[in-house]
Amino acid sequence: MDLSSHGSPVTIIETIASQLACSPEDKKVASYLDEQDELKHFRECFHIPKVKDLPQTDPVLVNDNEDCIYFAGNSLGLQSKKTKIYLEEELDKWAKIGVHGHFIGKRPWALADECIVELMADIVGARKEEIALMNGLTVNLHLLMLSFFKPTSDRYKILLEAKAFPSDHYAVESQLQLHGLDKEKSMLMIEPRKGEETLRTEDILAVIEKEGDSIATILFSGVQYYTGQLFDIPRITKAGQEKGCFVGFDLAHAVGNIELHLHEWGVDFACWCSYKYLNSGAGGLAGAYIHEKHSQTVKPALIGWWGHEFKTRFLMENKLQLSPGIDGFRLSNPPILLVCALHASLEIFGKTTMKLLRRKSILLTGYLEYLIKHYYSEDRNDPEKPFVKIITPSHTEERGCQLTVAFSIPIKSVFKELEKRGVACDLREPNALRFAPVPLYNSFHDVHRFIEILGSAITSAK
Ligand SMILES: *Cc1c(COP(=O)(O)O)cnc(C)c1O
Repeated sequence: MDLSSHGSPVTIIETIASQLACSPEDKKVASYLDEQDELKHFRECFHIPKVKDLPQTDPVLVNDNEDCIYFAGNSLGLQSKKTKIYLEEELDKWAKIGVHGHFIGKRPWALADECIVELMADIVGARKEEIALMNGLTVNLHLLMLSFFKPTSDRYKILLEAKAFPSDHYAVESQLQLHGLDKEKSMLMIEPRKGEETLRTEDILAVIEKEGDSIATILFSGVQYYTGQLFDIPRITKAGQEKGCFVGFDLAHAVGNIELHLHEWGVDFACWCSYKYLNSGAGGLAGAYIHEKHSQTVKPALIGWWGHEFKTRFLMENKLQLSPGIDGFRLSNPPILLVCALHASLEIFGKTTMKLLRRKSILLTGYLEYLIKHYYSEDRNDPEKPFVKIITPSHTEERGCQLTVAFSIPIKSVFKELEKRGVACDLREPNALRFAPVPLYNSFHDVHRFIEILGSAITSAK
């Protein structure tokens, strides 16, 4: 069967099962899907933790030499095997030639970020002049908000999700404070309808239509960290801009997860971290984007020497020649060790495309959803099956790779039982576990093994 055909995951899984003359939950289906997976070799590029090395595993329940089931790439991506090599290259260079490393070698330190900016631009669908690699995500969010939130007496609101990630929420609150604005009046937060977990696009668009004239800036996530909902970035962007708002996105959970076309969609600004799906290691170098259309008009509020044009930067004349667009927002010289770790991962992305990764991702997550639904019920009153509810939207175009799952039994004990059995996932208060099968290094076998483990974890957790 040609897996590149555009059938739904359910159709593909059931067709394969019938061809193999087995039931869809049979392990043979996982084996077949792995065999057909053209991206499966990328798993070899990463260090997959062994169950025996994880702190919470119970040696009685796991097989020592087994790989753990790593479904936590939405929190911290795995380490590429090249990371250490690239770090050592630069450490050696530093040891051998000291300050001369700034302009010599594979990654001249003074230009290190620029060596990998093109790889990054491909992943977010932007031109390389629209992207900078700098700072951490929250820092970049603040720097961008300083230029894209310019409240006036008529336009003084920021529109965001009610349950935005804490850092984004606080960033917005403090930006409002900086302008002396009252958050009760200026912080406009959209909540899901009563009894619903995720936001409807029509409701987001309706708020923009109704309140747009008083909204200065719309700040949404691309993929919601808790629910895993993928927002309709192009439609939100268009609707906001038609009302005269700037529209920006925090892409922490979207980058490296879904296909992005920031330039084509006309998104005004965006930022993201790189340690989740981009595997750059904790505290890795973050990204920021400003659309080309603003390159001459939107200026940074805070300036450092790295925003000065490269050509004359080192003349030290203290007469600012500001680089256009996002480059002018750079403050400090790039952190070479962080660049190395990001380089090692982006290079792997460079060997494939987000389109192919996304295609596998839809099937991989669809397979997980299929098996969860096969064994568990969303109906609390079904006496036959334990209650497990997937909060993440079921339409593939409304989600990335993550499924957020609520349980009728206490999640803390399910989580603990999963950990004992070598599953790395994460628990998010108030009541969900998040599972992220990542197409770059997770296999269909991982999903199948996970489902078996989940069964025994639920039985023990009761
Ligand atoms: C992960 C994440 C952050 C983390 O911010 P840092 O500045 O990298 O610590 C912020 N916002 C969102 C939406 C996230 O998912």
